[in-house]
Formats: sequence, C-alpha cells, structure tokens
Amino acid sequence: MPASPHTATGNAESPQPALRPLTIVLANPRGFCAGVERAIEIVERALEKYGAPVYVRHEIVHNRFVVESLEAKGAIFVEELSEVPENVPVIFSAHGVPKSVPAEAVRRDLFYLDATCPLVSKVHREAERHYRLGNKVILIGHDGHPEVIGTMGQLPEDAMVLVQNVEEAENIAIEDPDRVAFITQTTLSVDDTVEIIAALKRRFPNIMGPKKEDICYATTNRQEAVKAVAAGADAVIVVGAPNSSNSQRLVEVARNLGCSKAMLVQRAADLDWAVLEDVRRLGITAGASAPEILVEEIIAALQNHFDITIERPDGATENVFFKLPKILTREAEAS
Ligand code: SF4
Repeated sequence: MPASPHTATGNAESPQPALRPLTIVLANPRGFCAGVERAIEIVERALEKYGAPVYVRHEIVHNRFVVESLEAKGAIFVEELSEVPENVPVIFSAHGVPKSVPAEAVRRDLFYLDATCPLVSKVHREAERHYRLGNKVILIGHDGHPEVIGTMGQLPEDAMVLVQNVEEAENIAIEDPDRVAFITQTTLSVDDTVEIIAALKRRFPNIMGPKKEDICYATTNRQEAVKAVAAGADAVIVVGAPNSSNSQRLVEVARNLGCSKAMLVQRAADLDWAVLEDVRRLGITAGASAPEILVEEIIAALQNHFDITIERPDGATENVFFKLPKILTREAEAS
C-alpha cells in the first residue's frame, strides 16, 4: 500500500521521474474523406432501414476498426457476390467494382447499393469516354488494388492497360501512339504520378488525359499536410491500415522528405516504443479511411509515456460532401 502523505515513514518516497517532453504536430487535414464518410453512412443507413444482416462486398473502406464496428451492428463482409444469399441487401465498397459485379447482382435479382466514391465513378466515366473515342486507355495505378480492379473492369478486356511506374511507362507498347489516353487511380503519390505522366507524354505527345491527374482532393491534401509535419519531425506516425493505398502513400511521402522514422500504425497497441525513444518532435496523420478516434487513442497512449505538447498547424480547408443514394435519404423515407 503506498504511504499516505501524512504517514511518517523512515524513507522519503522517491518522486516519479519526470516524463520526457514530446511535441506532437497534428497534420491538417487528416483522416476521413467525404467518400469514406459516405460509404460508412450507406452501410449504417441500410442497416437502419432494412435491418441486419446487410452484406458488404469487400471491406467498405480499408480499416479493420471501421469494419468491426459495422460488423457489430450487423454488417457481414464477404469478398465475392457468390457469398451473398438471396433476399438480403448487398453494398459495394467505396473502391468501386468491375461492371460484371452489378451485372451479376441484376442477374441474381439481388438488391444492391453502390457505395463507390463519386470521385472513383468519375474516373470510370472518363475511361468509358476515351474508349468510345477509340483510344487505348492507360491506367496509372497499383496492380491488385480493388480500385484498379474496379476501374479496369469498366471496359472490355484488353481495352485498358496498367502502368505502375516510370519504367513501365517508358516501355509500354501501344499499337497506335496517336490514339491513347490515360487515367489514374485516385490514391496515388502525387509526386510519383507527375513523373509517370511526364514519361507517357514524352512517348505519346498526343496522349489525352485529365488536366493534372485523377488523384482526389483528399489524397492530395493529406500528402501536402504530411509534408508540412514531416519537415522537421524526428518521426511520423500514419494511422492507417496496411491495405490502405492512401495511408501507405503518406508513409512514403514522409520518408521521401527524409523522415526515415515514418511508420504506419493501426492501433495504440502497435506503437513501437523503442523507435520513439529519441523522438522529440513527432508528426501524426491518418489515412482517408482511418477514424479520428484511433488518432485520439494513440495520443492518449503517448500521453502516458511523454509530457506532450500538441501543435495544430493550419492546412487546406475541406468542405466536400457527397449525397447518399436517394433510396437511403430521409426525404425518400418521407415521400
Ligand atoms: S480517398 Fe478520395 S477517391 Fe477515395 S474515397 Fe476518399 S475522396 Fe473518394
């Protein structure tokens, strides 16, 4: 039992060692984007409206905490439509799906809701437009990512070709170099993509494409914000999941700025205290699919180890909002 301040003991109690100071610089903006908020709300509203279970094809957004929270409310996550039974609603994730998926849902007479981010759908429409114009479409993106699978699945096989880096851009063979267009994944590194596009433009001077790229506002803003905190930081924590493309890019952006201790952390329990040993200034950000509650959890854990001061630099203001599918809106219920 600890001695009370009024208890006379032979030995004076040794004082707690003072906590080492740590300055946390919180990136702004960070965390949830409008597409992720919309996707999560679609699942929540569907659960309210139709009752559990509601099926979701693929993780609605790439974050275990979000997925588990929705599972607790009655969502069931599956990878393929074939795992969805009849007579239950199914939701497609924010990353988008190949055209074959809604087509199969229609064939099976399944009721589906599409939570594809409108900014991903915009890229799908660009791909279709280029195809209609007779162009070969080059998609700049990462092989195997669900968004890339979904975007490639908007066109017939062989109509689109994937380029992942400058080397592939330098070597890609296109039958008619005057009939080619490019589109991009929405969550790429802005800096890497500029170089890939430059390589494509060198090789195909008449290539069509968006003015800059299709990288979304949220990805761009979060990369700018992590640059601001990584400059001068001894380490950077990116709160996010290993399968989250935009979170991985934030780690890379921080590392490219010379911050070798840039790390992806999913939960406070994953913090590597040894790595933080010599850190005096720590940047913290979160990928577009990571909820703020996880940032708060990590700060709370740091508070137990350090005497923390928090800096909140200014950043880009975001006021993007995407409408829900009409069938889930309150107005639809009222009518
Ligand atoms: S990261 Fe961008 S494209 Fe992806 S869901 Fe968010 S807003 Fe949409």
